[in-house]
Amino acid sequence: MQPSFDPSAAHFASRYLAAFAALPVDVQYGFAVVFGLVIGSFLTVVVHRLPIMLERAWRSEVEAAMPDAPKPAAAPCPERFNLAVPRSACPHCGHVLRAWENIPVISYLALRGRCSACGARVSPRYPLTELATGALAALSLYAYGPDWAALAAFGLCATLLAAALIDHDTRYLPDVLTLPLLWAGLIVNFGEGGFATLHDAVTGAIAGYLFLWCVYWLFRLARGVEGMGYGDFKLLAAIGAWLGWAALAQVVLIAAVSGAAFGIAATWRKRMRFEEPLPFGPFLAAGGAITLFVGTPLYALFG
Ligand SMILES: [Zn+2]
Repeated sequence: MQPSFDPSAAHFASRYLAAFAALPVDVQYGFAVVFGLVIGSFLTVVVHRLPIMLERAWRSEVEAAMPDAPKPAAAPCPERFNLAVPRSACPHCGHVLRAWENIPVISYLALRGRCSACGARVSPRYPLTELATGALAALSLYAYGPDWAALAAFGLCATLLAAALIDHDTRYLPDVLTLPLLWAGLIVNFGEGGFATLHDAVTGAIAGYLFLWCVYWLFRLARGVEGMGYGDFKLLAAIGAWLGWAALAQVVLIAAVSGAAFGIAATWRKRMRFEEPLPFGPFLAAGGAITLFVGTPLYALFG
């Protein structure tokens, strides 16, 4: 007699999904928010450390290729430095955070936004990133129900958030985020139940890259200005791979309008000069996340 046990990973995973879907709805949301807060806490580490890790890797590549080149001064950093090591510490006094000081949002509120050792202010950006990630997890569950699509949607949102914050801080969109995100979009849309057909996803990846590449070169040849970088092309390619080519016009429209509004407001408040280029990644990421959740209602306005 054949045993009824299916050892495949898909079967194993689908039992977890069925168990999750059988929970009361408010418990599902509770799980989603806690999961989102924990991932948000990890994202704050990624946003802070990934640019430093990349800079260190580039330095060592340059040193290996050109051993006689003068060495630029590097920021002091422990020898082993990655997303797990060393443990999080206060940037002012070096106090290593204990487990209870590392609980998303709650520790920030309990310590009233200050380091427990030296009293230096902790940036409100940490709890805000955690809260935003928790909200995105709840929104993904709301939009897609207890399904793998919700987990995939949340993965897209979390990566977009990390990429947006890193672009804001460093004006650089790392390939280690944008390229895996592009592949993930193609994989998610490979079978049934994705966000677009595989055909639309591949077309979206190509069109997303080419569209911004053309805009970039048109501006560069016509006016000699660089408003964007190659990271932006890759990010829009990734969004196209997730949402399909048809979503791209709305994503770019949201990004361009919100970016222009933000730039004008920042110039008006004398926060930046008019000629200063604005990192475009955060606005593309916002356009992608909005389109993921609301679809393309803007197209109805144009008939
Ligand atoms: Zn401190």
